[in-house]
Amino acid sequence: MGLKLGRIKVMNLSVRKRRAVAAAKAAGVDALLVMHSPDIRYLSGFTGSSGCLVLRSGRAVLFTDGRYTSQAKAEAVGTRVEIVTKASVVAACEWMEAAGVERCGFDAAHTTVAVLETLRGAVTAKVRRRMFEPVGPLVAGLREVKDVDEIAVLRRAAKLGCTLFDGMLGYMRSGMTEIAVAAELEHRARLGGAEGMSFETIVASGERSALPHGRASMAKLPKRGFVTLDFGVVLDGYCSDMTRTIHMGKALAGELDVYDSVLEAQEAAVAAVRPGVTSGEVDEAARSVLRRRGLDQYFSHSTGHGVGLEIHEGPKIAAKQTQVLQQGMVITIEPGAYMPGKFGLRIEDMVLVTARGGEVLTPSVKAWIEL
Ligand code: ZN
Ligand code: ZN
Repeated sequence: MGLKLGRIKVMNLSVRKRRAVAAAKAAGVDALLVMHSPDIRYLSGFTGSSGCLVLRSGRAVLFTDGRYTSQAKAEAVGTRVEIVTKASVVAACEWMEAAGVERCGFDAAHTTVAVLETLRGAVTAKVRRRMFEPVGPLVAGLREVKDVDEIAVLRRAAKLGCTLFDGMLGYMRSGMTEIAVAAELEHRARLGGAEGMSFETIVASGERSALPHGRASMAKLPKRGFVTLDFGVVLDGYCSDMTRTIHMGKALAGELDVYDSVLEAQEAAVAAVRPGVTSGEVDEAARSVLRRRGLDQYFSHSTGHGVGLEIHEGPKIAAKQTQVLQQGMVITIEPGAYMPGKFGLRIEDMVLVTARGGEVLTPSVKAWIEL
């Protein structure tokens, strides 16, 4: 089983590297310098936090340091590993110049001005002026469409998130602090096998539920009012992301109305997901429901985002976006409504784009829950 999985993975890695080389060629460069660690992991399998990867037609070389000697060799199967004593990007640039690379593409979105200076300083004056070329987030683009192995991991991560949420329903009581709820959830996540959380757990209760990103605080869960839980776990490097909003005590009619509207908007957007639609159309499916209910002014963020090795990836599911959804993308659908000083709520699922439409990966109940 282990061997079989290993073989599939090596095959995936070589497909990914080939695609990245093709994308680099299309962008007019003869090599690609990859410095963003999720991109390095995606292309080479290497999970260390320091190093860089050079792709050049048919060759991939990972530069890292002595702390990662055995890890790099074990993980980066199919990629040549160079253990270097100087900064890995400097070694990579020297290697490229010696190998006759003329134009090296780099991802401007993840390269600081200081790093670019380092790259330029690592090569001779002869090639310095023409060598480095910003090529946009090429690898991030490839990462938007997940392969079967990635989908399997994301499925498991989403499922663990749901199991945790379901379990927390039996734990939360009014009077508990938001931080106590977050701590218990995170403790259970680790015991459930999570490497960590995808982001700082959001527990926003009572009036604080009107904060779209209310980090867990020392505020106490109210006797009567909403509690929004937005969290994710990391499994095998992949992030899950889900939000549910529950109600402590009896709800007022107005609160129920807003909940119903947000749920209707969320389900409308999920139903709009399929290959070939633009992400703007999916956003509009949610937004138009809230507009009809007079709540669109309280929906102050976009409808969702891609999720994978990073918690926020492409595609952006937002108003007027023209990017077309493709089979294999994994996105979130998370409309909300936030009334400052009163209350707010959000409902978020992870959704896989399949040939037949959107498949929800987060099965926890979305109907009204009163604790
Ligand atoms: Zn979330
Ligand atoms: Zn999200």
